[in-house]
Amino acid sequence: MTSRASFSWVSFAFHVLGTSSSGNCSVLRAGGKTVLIDVGFAWPRLSAALAKVGVEPRSIDAVFITHEHSDHCSGLPALLGRNPGLKVYANAETALRIGYTQKVSPVWKKFQTGGAFDYNGITVTPFPIPHDAADPVGFAFDCPGVGGASTRRVTWMTDLGHVTPVAKAQAEAADILVLESNYDDEMLDLSKRPAPLKQRIRGRHGHLSNLAALDLLRSIKAERLSHICLGHLSKECNRATIVEQLMVEVRADRPDVRVTVFDPLEESPAELS
Ligand SMILES: [Zn+2]
Ligand SMILES: [Zn+2]
Repeated sequence: MTSRASFSWVSFAFHVLGTSSSGNCSVLRAGGKTVLIDVGFAWPRLSAALAKVGVEPRSIDAVFITHEHSDHCSGLPALLGRNPGLKVYANAETALRIGYTQKVSPVWKKFQTGGAFDYNGITVTPFPIPHDAADPVGFAFDCPGVGGASTRRVTWMTDLGHVTPVAKAQAEAADILVLESNYDDEMLDLSKRPAPLKQRIRGRHGHLSNLAALDLLRSIKAERLSHICLGHLSKECNRATIVEQLMVEVRADRPDVRVTVFDPLEESPAELS
């Protein structure tokens, strides 16, 4: 089990620096560019994690943001302070809210949810996900290969209350899939969280439970899939060991697919410093 995973091909690299209820950030290198998917770490953790994968903050070309919740964008002000020319991709509703809550006014590159666009040879598809944010998205990045190598598709799908047909289709088309496995039902029941919060997490626009993530993985064909990462685990209401146990079946069914579970308890700032 590891809290960081890397996937590398020639001129392609994808580092998941961390994904849990306390922060989400990944580095994708493709098409000659270095981009982040979400930037939900405070600066000490972000700078340490970037250093570990050899990325200079000033060398980051762009950030793609899924939604305005702080575990996905709280590191943006600090990163912009060190890299003022950073391009920030978000849809209009998300940009509006982040501009207000994070008090930033970056070079926004606004996209339409559901509309694919080109970013330096990478085809980016932001697709809608059901979550209690203004206009939340998942992302699929079709990254160009080198020397005729086929395109690799990285799909990021966290913070969704249920699996929609769109989300399922996106999971099926992935080579590398980062999928939310947020909570264990029993741990959520037993937690001291107030009832309305429990209801929100379980709601159609909340988060995906371990069993819902497992159901999705059972139901998709996903013939291209080479790596599944289970992420956005709740620190309070989940354990990596529980998700690992559920993944025994997935590993048995798909022996050629790597499965990584990100342990939220290993994602402390100390671990990444
Ligand atoms: Zn969220
Ligand atoms: Zn989140």
